[in-house]
Amino acid sequence: MSHPQARPMRFVEMDSGCFYSISHKTNQDDYLYKTWTVDGEKVREAFHRFTLRAHNDLDAIPDGYEVDHICGNRPCCNPKHLRLIERSDHKRVTNMMRYADRHERARLHWETHRHSRRVTGEELGGLFGVDQSCACRWIRAWKAEEAV
Ligand SMILES: [Zn+2]
Repeated sequence: MSHPQARPMRFVEMDSGCFYSISHKTNQDDYLYKTWTVDGEKVREAFHRFTLRAHNDLDAIPDGYEVDHICGNRPCCNPKHLRLIERSDHKRVTNMMRYADRHERARLHWETHRHSRRVTGEELGGLFGVDQSCACRWIRAWKAEEAV
């Protein structure tokens, strides 16, 4: 693989251990892409996929598999934060992380405002994109935790 004209990629390590590029911008989905020239052909590949292949000595990502960010940060290219995962599992894991993230942000919102006014499940549901019964369940669980 040769890419003499390609700009070298430079990364910084964040506190989380994530590697973020400071030489190249991510696309609108937050992924870092790189174009290689392989045997005279231009090949475009997500850089985290390349990183995982390079570190595992793979020519290609196996069929039915995707590269998952264990850290949940799409631009990250730390090979230790990447793993191969079956496509069906990937959706589940990603949804779980999205849900966990909303749950955390909702809790912060609730804790910030609850002493000055009543924060309802309807409000949380609207703000964080979950249905009202789910938001009410969250609130009950947070209250129960505090009561201990
Ligand atoms: Zn990371």
